Amino acid sequence: MTTSVVSGGTRGIGRGLSLRLAALGHQVIALYRGDDLAAEQTEKAGEGLITALRCDLTRPDEIHAVCARIASEHGAPAVLVNNAGVNRDRPFLSMTAEDWDTVLATNLSGPFHLSQALAPAMVEAGGGSIVNIASTTAIRPRNNGANYCSSKAGLLQLTKCLALELAPHIRVNALLPGFTDTDEVTDRYRLDDPERLATVLDAIPARRLGTTDDMADALEYLVTTRSSYLTGQQLIVDGGHFMG
Ligand code: NDP
Repeated sequence: MTTSVVSGGTRGIGRGLSLRLAALGHQVIALYRGDDLAAEQTEKAGEGLITALRCDLTRPDEIHAVCARIASEHGAPAVLVNNAGVNRDRPFLSMTAEDWDTVLATNLSGPFHLSQALAPAMVEAGGGSIVNIASTTAIRPRNNGANYCSSKAGLLQLTKCLALELAPHIRVNALLPGFTDTDEVTDRYRLDDPERLATVLDAIPARRLGTTDDMADALEYLVTTRSSYLTGQQLIVDGGHFMG
């Protein structure tokens, strides 16, 4: 059975990705930071194919411990999805060092440590696929997001460097979601206000928010043999919002 690891795999987009991989018959290890209830619910929805493990991605020691546990209990993964990410939005001039460090540690250093911890076993077991969940704001800037946009831009470059160095064994690609319907985005942009939602939708040619299923469809493509000649690339899934 194929083993997959999804960071932040218990909520939002990550939950959708975990469920899709489970539907493909994978044994999924979903890493999360602290929301035990969401973890339990995702495990339940996975009907025996999803195991949620706590691991704070800002802590390299925890990453190495959880990877050792995954190796001994589930064997080498064939798929790693670096999905966990946080926002600490603030205007640049009032952004604190803590805002900067937390976002960079989670969104960029987390994928570095997790990929480095898992890649040797992946290669030894015959290779596989790493998918980094970036964002269209990795390419185009937005207000109050110097930390977030920088972290995701770094993740795009990390994607290309790993695609070079881990070839031909592991393909490494980035998936760039646009506005995707998760609690985090609804809260941050207050999209439960119909006027705010209408303004956002106005700028999206598809005239709707992305769904976690849209992202899972793209992930499915990136981890199966249908994309076997694709590595080091950026797949933007945003309803045409940003035609980079
Ligand atoms: P959510 O906030 O809904 O979920 C984040 C997930 O990451 C949770 O499972 C959370 O665990 C986990 N996580 C956060 N910090 C850590 C940490 N330090 N260690 C381990 N796990 C952690 O996010 P979304 O689903 O909205 O976003 C998922 C990814 O997609 C992110 O990388 C985000 O930047 C990216 N993205 C999202 C867009 C959107 O519109 N939603 C647009 C563009 C990109 P816990 O629940 O335990 O806290």
